[in-house]
Amino acid sequence: QSGEEQTEDYLFKVVLIGDSAVGKSNLLARFARDEFYPNSKSTIGVEFQTQKMEINGKEVKAQIWDTAGQERFRAVTSAYYRGAVGALLVYDISRRQTFDSIGRWLNELQTHSDMNVVTILVANKSDLKDAREVSTAEGKTLAEAQDLFFIETSALDSSNVSAAFQTVVREIFNILS
Ligand code: GDP
Ligand code: MG
Repeated sequence: QSGEEQTEDYLFKVVLIGDSAVGKSNLLARFARDEFYPNSKSTIGVEFQTQKMEINGKEVKAQIWDTAGQERFRAVTSAYYRGAVGALLVYDISRRQTFDSIGRWLNELQTHSDMNVVTILVANKSDLKDAREVSTAEGKTLAEAQDLFFIETSALDSSNVSAAFQTVVREIFNILS
């Protein structure tokens, strides 16, 4: 380690949003701790988790906020959104209703955030192939129309979970650095 090297601190607040039980807490648990809870209750949600990542050779910290289940009561507060520069907007491919809520979540995000929040639409539970109610094409089409990134993930089998968080953080880094 060269003592002369300037260590810049990058700390980006990223929020997880989307309907109840789409897998927000498990995406964070998988990403930050490589854990999965088959029968998770909303109580496992921590307030936020700080995760170190390397982007273009720089150390970046993502402070990832999870709800404690308040989305069930449509009571996500403005404090939750305050200062967020990134968002993972999650739905469950096996429950169309959670996809139909995306517009409402986008409105809420735009209402509560003062800047343009880098947002990725996350189609979670891709492992539930037989129960799929929302096609990949539908997800992509919505993402394109709303100018969002798009990815399909599974917190259960880990697929694309890191990529989802990394896509957002890399884009924030590219914009802000
Ligand atoms: P949240 O309310 O959005 O935080 O959702 P949770 O993370 O608590 O997950 C709700 C339920 O979905 C739990 O029973 C999880 O085990 C389950 N779950 C979460 N992600 C996945 C996934 O990728 N695949 C499958 N099959 N189940 C998942
Ligand atoms: Mg949760």
